[in-house]
Amino acid sequence: MNIGKENGNVEMKSKQKWKELIEENDYILVGVGEEWESDEMGEELSEAYERLAGMLAGTDYFVVTTAMDGWIWKTDLDKNRIVAPCGNRNFLQCSAACCEEIWRREDAPEGGQCPRCGASLVPNTVEEKPYVEAGYLPQWKAYMTWLQRSLNRKLLLLELGVGFRTPTVIRWPFEKTAYLNQKSTFYRVHEKLFQLPDNLDGRGNAVAKNSVEWLCSL
Ligand SMILES: [Zn+2]
Repeated sequence: MNIGKENGNVEMKSKQKWKELIEENDYILVGVGEEWESDEMGEELSEAYERLAGMLAGTDYFVVTTAMDGWIWKTDLDKNRIVAPCGNRNFLQCSAACCEEIWRREDAPEGGQCPRCGASLVPNTVEEKPYVEAGYLPQWKAYMTWLQRSLNRKLLLLELGVGFRTPTVIRWPFEKTAYLNQKSTFYRVHEKLFQLPDNLDGRGNAVAKNSVEWLCSL
């Protein structure tokens, strides 16, 4: 396992290093996970998103996030290049999932009840069972199409703060994509869960740092 030497004097060079790494890849796939989830868009988080958007500007990227706070939609990242399969707490769904409709919290029907069946409205996230998936499926299709295009091309995978809350969404598929694509480079940044599988033939890099802080330090 390669633990990134991202501290000390090396840090001075990391901005340039990242610029080069991004330039030499055709596609950039970013995974945003639990380390980014927050009740409020604090200064550091805002800065991290800003840096990420700046880093990705002008590249062919896609961002998959499991954060359910919806902050990512308020950043400079391209909304056509984001998918949030775990949902967004700012949207509501019928708790009985009688329909595929979702409402912005501020536009929700009065009384907080589903206009069709009368059940209570609940946040449109994967934590609700049943979960109304209509909110993210169109973007999921866009993501799958994009991912197909990246096959056999130079692909940089940047996994930021993704743990094991929903490993089937980012963590395990990213490992598989990195394994299958021999032209890929995989960076896993996480304060504690930075461990890599051992089948990446030197294409994997682990950075044992909180990914929000790490991005702000670039
Ligand atoms: Zn309903």
